[in-house]
Amino acid sequence: MDDGPLNPDQERLWHALGLGPRWRERTAAGGADAAAGPVPAPVAGLDWDGLEHAVASCTACGLCQTRTQTVFGVGSRTASWMFVGEAPGAEEDARGEPFVGQAGRLLDNMLAAAGLARDEGQGEPVFIANVLKCRPPGNRNPDAAEVQACAPFLQRQVQLLQPRIIVVMGRFAAQCLLGTDASIASLRGRTHEYRVGTAAIPVVVTYHPAYLLRNLADKAKSWEDLCLARGALAGVGARPA
Ligand code: URA
Repeated sequence: MDDGPLNPDQERLWHALGLGPRWRERTAAGGADAAAGPVPAPVAGLDWDGLEHAVASCTACGLCQTRTQTVFGVGSRTASWMFVGEAPGAEEDARGEPFVGQAGRLLDNMLAAAGLARDEGQGEPVFIANVLKCRPPGNRNPDAAEVQACAPFLQRQVQLLQPRIIVVMGRFAAQCLLGTDASIASLRGRTHEYRVGTAAIPVVVTYHPAYLLRNLADKAKSWEDLCLARGALAGVGARPA
């Protein structure tokens, strides 16, 4: 599988994201050829608290009828690191926080090993979010309409956070955000790019922690991905104040 032209399903999903051609493999020159699309009016311009409120009261798709609560994201709102997963599971839906189940505990351990932490003062801060803010019932795959409805929220979170590195976890999040049907294997090991305004944020793709729970041998590859991310971050200048 390559990451050339999108197949019709991916084309639909990507357009459903409302993002346009924003994610690109980072070129040798470090440039990308696409600018960020505009954030839809109701979400553009919201600050963190306004955005959190908008997510909490969202009824844009059917998931609002089955969720216990929305899962906005967790961590420092000034973090340099952003981690993006797929969607809340049962425990996340119950607690209102991403990655708090078994997969989340593995993620926390990996973060700790890298000197990172979701909790203030426990390590270099990160912000953790999902593509979807509500749990798909039975943990089924999100559909294109749900992704489209939720996309502006993640987009705005990236705009507000202005992370210096984004780590995308798992095939679904990677394919959604990179607008590709390429496999995780082909997306790993190199840096992609996300443009917000004039900023180009490096993106690294890694395995989803839930996958790693079933495939322990690939933990070493995930560690390599975190090292790649750290190296990419080091190559990015400091954020303007
Ligand atoms: N899987 C995800 O992708 N996100 C979560 O928050 C929990 C499990």
